[in-house]
This record gives sequence, structure tokens and C-alpha cells, in this order.
Amino acid sequence: VILRILTFGEEALRRKAGPVVEITPEIRRLAQDMVETMRSAQGVGLAAGQVGREEAICVIDVPREMEDAGVPEGMAMPLVMINPEITAAEGRHRCEEGCLSFPEISVPVTRARQVAAAYTDLEGLRRSIVADGLLARAVQHELDHLAGVLLVDRMSSVQRLSVAGRLKRLRRAAGGK
Ligand SMILES: [Zn+2]
Repeated sequence: VILRILTFGEEALRRKAGPVVEITPEIRRLAQDMVETMRSAQGVGLAAGQVGREEAICVIDVPREMEDAGVPEGMAMPLVMINPEITAAEGRHRCEEGCLSFPEISVPVTRARQVAAAYTDLEGLRRSIVADGLLARAVQHELDHLAGVLLVDRMSSVQRLSVAGRLKRLRRAAGGK
């Protein structure tokens, strides 16, 4: 099932996610719907808050053939991360970044170059990964969402000014939802 992706200006994007206490069939279905939704929108990541849900779940699909993908050998994609947390971060890297909730907007954002993260998988097992490149960026971006932090919050005031017209249009469009 493809879910509607909320866009900037919709208040639900600001809600903080709450921990998932049990991997129920409903949680599995939500994760599957999120993967379908992300793929149909050709995104590399999606957080539950972007489809109006409050569970701490995000899905990531970084194609390993992409330049600087940073996907560890043997790691299957898509990645479903439940109750994820970043346990270590290192280095700095600046790169153009977009978000499915900010259509047609992309700006360079500085983030950690490499992160270690822990999460629960769909089997209920606690796992950990070390990611760099695009995967590390996606993990940081999706964890921002789970804390109610959006791409616009990562922009400098100059960047925000440069996309002010588009942000205004999104906000106005969201007013009707
Ligand atoms: Zn996003």
C-alpha cells in the first residue's frame, strides 16, 4: 500500500516518534508500506512521521552501486530500522541533500561522515551497523525525522532564503490539508 507522504507545513512532521515496544503484524505491515511508498517516490529513505505515524521506524534504500553509497558488504537493502539510535559519529561531510517532504528542494548539508547506529530489525533482534557515505547521511536524515527535525532546520539562513519561495508554496499547499 502506498501511503501519502506529508509535506513541509503539515504539523505531524514535527511530532517526535515514540518507541516501538513489540514487533506486531501491524508494525510489519507499516514497514512494508513505508518501503513501497519510498520506492514509488524514488526516495532513499522515509521515516514513519512522514506518513503521519508516530512509531520510531525508518526505512532506507541506498543502491549500493551509487557513488559513495557507503553500504557495508553483505548488508541487504532496504533497511528497516526500528527504534534506531546513533551510537557514534565521526568526521564531517558536506553534500547535496533532499527530502521527500520537501519536493524539488535540495541543499548542501554538513553531517558526520561516518556513523555507528543500533536498531531493532523486523525479527526483533537488536543490530548495529557502521555506515559512511550516502548511507550514513540517510541514517542521520531519518533519525532527524524521528526527532521532529526537518531539512529546513539544517539549512543556513542564506540557504533558507534561497528556497524561501518554494517553502512558502509548500506551506500554503499544506494549509489545505
Ligand atoms: Zn526527509
